[in-house]
Amino acid sequence: MTSALRTRAVHAGRDDLADLGLHAAPLDFSTTYPARDSAEEARRIDEFAAGANVTGIYGRISNPTVERFEQALAELEGFDHAVAFASGMAAVSACLLSAVSQGKRHIVGVRPLYGCTDHLLTTGLLGTEVTWTAPENVADALRPDTGLVFVETPANPTLSELDIATLTAACGDVPVLVDNTFATPVLQRPGRLGARMVLHSATKFLGGHGDVMGGIVACDAEEAARLRSLRFATGGVLHPLAGYLLLRGLSTLPLRVKAASETAAVLAERLASHPSVRTVHYPKLGGPLVAFEVTGDPHAVVGAVRLITPAVSLGSVDTLIQHPASLTHRIVAEDDRTGSGITHGLLRLSAGLEDVEDLWLDLDRALKSC
Ligand SMILES: *Cc1c(COP(=O)(O)O)cnc(C)c1O
Repeated sequence: MTSALRTRAVHAGRDDLADLGLHAAPLDFSTTYPARDSAEEARRIDEFAAGANVTGIYGRISNPTVERFEQALAELEGFDHAVAFASGMAAVSACLLSAVSQGKRHIVGVRPLYGCTDHLLTTGLLGTEVTWTAPENVADALRPDTGLVFVETPANPTLSELDIATLTAACGDVPVLVDNTFATPVLQRPGRLGARMVLHSATKFLGGHGDVMGGIVACDAEEAARLRSLRFATGGVLHPLAGYLLLRGLSTLPLRVKAASETAAVLAERLASHPSVRTVHYPKLGGPLVAFEVTGDPHAVVGAVRLITPAVSLGSVDTLIQHPASLTHRIVAEDDRTGSGITHGLLRLSAGLEDVEDLWLDLDRALKSC
């Protein structure tokens, strides 16, 4: 299975290239597509309005380079469709608006979630109403107007995990959305466990080099049609160059995630016996992220690293460290933050592709300075 995923990561979205006489995916920057037959064009616009995935009309409807990335990610997650957006948050917004547009504005959320996702749900900015609950109580929180159950596992930033199959079984017909940014399809395919929508901040591991923003949702045909029409109406499209870079990123995703996960596992083990570390959170699932609570000043650790990059975000070729309570989850109210385990001493590290011994030297030295 792993070898098949590695193979498909390289070839998905590119199966037609050899027959086209091409090696790299073509990058199409067109914003519009000339058509001499307006009646035929009108018919195609009607097709799009009826839910079809129509290409070659206007850049906000679809783009062939972006579509290659969509096809590839859908395949890696085991879905028929995926819809790409300008960022992870544009993807989250579209999913919430999709629920609202079906008259189901109630969302059930399990904390922690990414800070901005938490903020969108808590403020109800997009017309949703949230009920926060523990994973085992999700079924009790469902209402007739519940449009979505929104979870992350492993969750940002504590890396807490929940059982997706148990959750989806408990939710019955209510769609479960799993933000799979941290695990990636390399470690976990929530669609196989009953999740109806699988979301990624493509900015992280899918792109993998810290130089492209994007978001994507893998889902069935009906949901994809809704998300495409929402994307057309609200405009959060992925740029074609981003689509190109993300497709390229996917080809090395399994190798990058495997290598970074091995490094993270070693760092997690060493951190667990470090005198300046109180607790280490490392998922049972594995993965490139480690969270740990320091006994001293977490800001001092972030300030002292020299090889490791002190920055928000994750999933890049370089190792990144950040202080969630100050940065990624600052937008979450303090009580809600600490209630979901985001303490003052917590640091989140995303392992990159450097040599593990070099990373440990840097981290150990930084920890000693706190
Ligand atoms: C970063 C992140 C997001 C938001 O993605 P952007 O691309 O920054 O908009 C959503 N979910 C998780 C888990 C993330 O880490």
